[in-house]
Amino acid sequence: MDVANRIDEVRQRVKARRLEGRTIGLVPTMGALHAGHRSLVEMARRDCGYVVVSIFVNPTQFGPSEDYGSYPRTLGPDLAACEEDGVDLVFHPPVEEMYPADPSCTTVHVSGLSEHLCGAHRPGHFDGVTTVVAKLFNIVRPDRAYFGEKDYQQLQVIRRMVADLNMPVAIVPGPTVREADGVALSSRNAYLSAEERRQAAALNRSLREAAEAARAGERDTARLRGLIERRLRESGPIEIDYVEIVHPETLAELPEIGSSARLCLAVRIGKCRLIDNLAIEAPAVPT
Ligand code: AMP
Repeated sequence: MDVANRIDEVRQRVKARRLEGRTIGLVPTMGALHAGHRSLVEMARRDCGYVVVSIFVNPTQFGPSEDYGSYPRTLGPDLAACEEDGVDLVFHPPVEEMYPADPSCTTVHVSGLSEHLCGAHRPGHFDGVTTVVAKLFNIVRPDRAYFGEKDYQQLQVIRRMVADLNMPVAIVPGPTVREADGVALSSRNAYLSAEERRQAAALNRSLREAAEAARAGERDTARLRGLIERRLRESGPIEIDYVEIVHPETLAELPEIGSSARLCLAVRIGKCRLIDNLAIEAPAVPT
């Protein structure tokens, strides 16, 4: 496995593999790798002849009061995990390599999709994400790039960016990897105390309960949202950023569930902001 810190080196290594006819796969991450990231690497390994993992804690996607400084950085174990998983190249650039001293004048903004849900609570976050992902795509030029459904809005925003800007890359979604009690794996779970970690199980539990109610015929999204919010509040001290039921692609809020929808939520438990989401497939309306 190679480890590159510089853009030129990545370009050279990937170019040589592309000339050999290999399919190039990219898994962008911020490190502190867990089984969720590793499931994306496994998918990439199955589909591609050359797998690149980027590990970069991207400063431009953190707000001024967010956890950029304290975000977990665990390069040694991350490299060991990549090696074990058969990654070909890890790209781990310093901040100056991605953002040289002159401030960049260019950002990628996906309007609409990136402005509600998490976008409304984290101004500028998705501009940071789309800009760094566009840069990574230009550096690696992958045929396929892998993103987790855990960050559902991010996945939809990136799909839209790629479609709108005709980027020649296939976006491949991976299912959310969870602990036995339903908690989605996240590098930020490390911030939770034992009690908060126990409480975090309420996120997925409440989503599953609402999805079950929808399957049983409840189509009114206000009532389903109410059910989720009640369950979250029953779990202990919690601050709810949002609970929304949205169209799976446009992310527009739905007054009623049609054939499919996505339940999305974001909460704060203690110092930790947690997100989760789940698909709802409601029974067809009889005609
Ligand atoms: P991050 O390092 O948090 O930026 O995440 C890097 C990639 O891993 C993103 O595409 C995430 O959606 C994905 N990811 C993070 N957690 C999970 C999880 N529990 N299951 C599946 N994918 C995940």
